[in-house]
Amino acid sequence: MDSLPQPQNQSSPAKILLGKYELGRRLGSGSFAKVHLARSIETNELVAIKIIDKKKTIDSNMEPRIIREIDAMRRLRDHPNILKIHEVMATKSKIYIVMELASGGELFSKLLRRGRLPESTARRYFQQLASALQFSHRDGVAHRDVKPQNLLLDREGNLKVSDFGLSALPEHLQNGLLHTACGTPAYTAPEVISRRGYDGAKADAWSCGVILFVLLVGEVPFDDSNIASMYRKIQRRDYKFPSWISKQAKSIIYQMLDPNPVTRMGIETVMKTTWFKKSLDASQFNFESEPVLEKSSSITAFDLISLSSGLDLSGLFESKKKRERRFTAKVSAVEVEEKAKAVGERLGYAVRKTKKEVVLGSGRTAIAVEAVELAVGVVVVEVKVVDGEEGDSRWSDLITELQVIVLSWHNDVM
Ligand code: ADP
Ligand code: MG
Repeated sequence: MDSLPQPQNQSSPAKILLGKYELGRRLGSGSFAKVHLARSIETNELVAIKIIDKKKTIDSNMEPRIIREIDAMRRLRDHPNILKIHEVMATKSKIYIVMELASGGELFSKLLRRGRLPESTARRYFQQLASALQFSHRDGVAHRDVKPQNLLLDREGNLKVSDFGLSALPEHLQNGLLHTACGTPAYTAPEVISRRGYDGAKADAWSCGVILFVLLVGEVPFDDSNIASMYRKIQRRDYKFPSWISKQAKSIIYQMLDPNPVTRMGIETVMKTTWFKKSLDASQFNFESEPVLEKSSSITAFDLISLSSGLDLSGLFESKKKRERRFTAKVSAVEVEEKAKAVGERLGYAVRKTKKEVVLGSGRTAIAVEAVELAVGVVVVEVKVVDGEEGDSRWSDLITELQVIVLSWHNDVM
C-alpha cells in the first residue's frame, strides 16, 4: 500500500500514531464522532477509525449506548454487507473504534454525482441492504437508523451498512438523536416519528422503502422541509412515481411505505418477490440464521469501555434553542385546535384559524399550531414561530399550557 495522504489539518503533526495505527485524513463526521483513515504499521492494512471525544458527548447515561453500539457491531461481523469492527481502544478523553474501511465512501455521494440509478444497479444495492438487515433482525438487532450516511461502499462497490449503534439508544435519547443528528426524519418510519412503541424490523422496512425510492428516483419520496405536511403526505401515501419505474418496483415501494407497520411489507417478504430475486447472487445469502457468537480471547470492547468510567458525554445533544416544538397529542386534531385557540386568547394573542392551522398573532410575532392525524388516533402537533424570530416571552407559557394535551414530546421542552 502506498503512503497515506497527509492529514488535512496543517497544524497537526505529519504522523500521528495511535497504538499500532498511523492516523490519516478525516473521512467524515457523524453525530458524535469523527472518522479517520488509518493504516496498521504491522500489516499495512488500511482501516477506518471512529474517534469519539468523551468531552463532547453527553453523560454517563451514554456509556451503555456506546458499549452496545460496539457490541452489536461485533456480533454482526459475519455478514459481508455489515461493516466489520476490528478493535476498540480508549484513553481518558477518547474512544477509538477501529473498523473496516469502506473506501468507496457513501453510496449517496455516488447517487448525487450520477443522479438516479438504473433499476438493475439499484436492485443490487437493495438486495445487499435487505440481506444485511435480515441477518441482523434474525439476531434480534434492528438498525433503526437506515439512512444514506450509513450506507457505505467498499472498493468493489459492495454495500456496507454501518452504525448499528442507534439500536441501543434509550428511547428518549434516540428521538433527540433522530432529529438533531440526521437533521432529517425523511427516512424514519411514521410510528417512530410519532413515538409509539414500535417494531424495529418493520421500522427498518420503512426506511428500506424510502432508500429504494431514492435509488430509483433520485430524490426522497417525502420532503421534510415542513414536518407537518410531510406527516400528512406519508399518511395519504402522497408521492409521485416517475414513468420509468417498473410496475413491480412501484408495488414493492408502495407496500413498504405503508404507514401502518402491521400491514407494511417486511424485509423477509420483499426478499421473496420475483423483482427482488432477479439476478440475485445467491452466494451472498448463504448465512447461518443463527449467528455464531464467538468469544474473543482478548479484551473485548465491552470490557474496555466498562473500564473507562466517568464518560463525560455532556453537550452532545444540546440543540439550538429553536422555537419549534413537536408532540404527539392525547386528544383529537380538532381538540388540539380548540385548546390552542383557548390558550392563545388567554395569553392575549389575536387568534386566527386557517385551513390547516391555528395562528396566534401579536405585533410582529406569529406562532402556528398545526395538528395532523398521522394514523388513526395518532395526532402529531407542530408548534412553531413562523414570524418574528424569537416569538416573545409568552412562548414558554404557551408550551406549558399545552402540556395537558401532550402524550409525548418529540423534542425537549426548553
Ligand atoms: P456517527 O455514528 O457519529 O453518525 P458515522 O460512523 O456514521 O458517525 O460516520 C460518519 C461518516 O464518516 C460517514 O457518513 C462516512 O462518510 C464516514 N465513515 C464512517 N465510517 C467509515 C468507514 N468505515 N469507512 C469510510 N468512511 C466512513
Ligand atoms: Mg452515522
